[in-house]
Amino acid sequence: MITVRFAPSPTGWLHLGSARTALFNWLAARHGGGRFLLRIEDTDRVRSDARFLEEILEDMKWLGLDWDGELVYQSRRFDIYREKAEGLVVAGKAHREGPAIIFKVEPGRTVEIEDMIHGKIIFQTENFKDQVLIKSDGSPAYNFSCVVDDSSQGVTHILRGDDHMTNTPKQALFYEALGLIPPKFGHMPLILGPDGAKLSKRHGGVSVREYKEEGFLPEALANYLILLGWTPPGGTEILDLAEATRLFEIKDMNDVQAKFDILKLKWMNGEYIMKKPAADLLPLLRDQFVRDGFDPARLGDGPLAGVLEAYRVRIKTLRELGELADFFFKDDYAVDEEAKAKYLGPAENRDNLREFAARLEKLESFSHDAIEAVCRDLAAERNLKAAGIIHPTRLAVSGKAKGAGLFEIMELLGRDISLARMKGAAL
Ligand code: GLU
Repeated sequence: MITVRFAPSPTGWLHLGSARTALFNWLAARHGGGRFLLRIEDTDRVRSDARFLEEILEDMKWLGLDWDGELVYQSRRFDIYREKAEGLVVAGKAHREGPAIIFKVEPGRTVEIEDMIHGKIIFQTENFKDQVLIKSDGSPAYNFSCVVDDSSQGVTHILRGDDHMTNTPKQALFYEALGLIPPKFGHMPLILGPDGAKLSKRHGGVSVREYKEEGFLPEALANYLILLGWTPPGGTEILDLAEATRLFEIKDMNDVQAKFDILKLKWMNGEYIMKKPAADLLPLLRDQFVRDGFDPARLGDGPLAGVLEAYRVRIKTLRELGELADFFFKDDYAVDEEAKAKYLGPAENRDNLREFAARLEKLESFSHDAIEAVCRDLAAERNLKAAGIIHPTRLAVSGKAKGAGLFEIMELLGRDISLARMKGAAL
């Protein structure tokens, strides 16, 4: 049975690269009916923080990942690492230097790693220094605790970033010295920013949290991240975790670096927004409004669903709905001043607006079709194109020159707000 693990260090938020690592290990386990374990590499007492761990776990759950068994905390296993290291001292493979324990690397050896993604990789021990197993403060070095835990947790396959490539031959030496069979290793090419450098803060958001806050759906982010390391057979790009689980094979993972393309991620997010039932999107939208400073209680579920349907095709993130449709949720919405001067400056336009409002006041039902009929009649009477009334009115009720259909917007806003804004603008 395949056993994999994800081993985050709780020293910061869940990075996109780490999230991708977690996703691939999870896929490998779920595809093979195996186990996906979680190990917390919190040996750095100063930089590790319980708050980061909580957030990492929360973000993993948000992405749709679950794990098997109890969490293993390295900070609780210092005695075990020391005992294993002492064993190597007794065997003559390591020595003490004060409280530290150091592993002697034999020079002149070749270490071969049969990498599941890159194929055979050969290292020469000449280039390795002797390796710290236990540091003088009593904490284990990453390479050593990693080997001790991977073997005691029965890990069979390790998928991790290329940044660990140079650690792997050292870990292989420890397996050998401890008389253990190493797991299979696969190193994933790093995610690059658009400029070809390793993805970092300077390219924009690098943590799962930032994308969540901007209004990306977890399904879309998970889908996008797995494409940065794997090409599904048949070239399908939109696939949820269940479908990916069915199709995934470690051997199909890419051995070339992938560029992070925010436009593609946004496109994909838009696709998921289009597909998701309104009932499932509404609670997410309300959370987004809270984050973005809108009053989430301003619209009930019915009208909010109406706004969503009017704008769904235009948005790529949930945040964008608030930006395009802010005038539904607040009175101090953004106003396009240039368009305002153009459409509401001329006295004639304001007069049309005043008349349109007066006629709408008498309307029995304030519906899309009825509003449209009034608009068209007025335009015909005054020898105008309907657009001559529509543009100033749109500006008046929404502050914008573009957006969803005007009559749709007005019906959703309701008579009171629409007329108050029209009258205000016609002054
Ligand atoms: N804690 C290490 C990291 O976050 C884990 C590396 C590994 O998977 O072995 O990079």
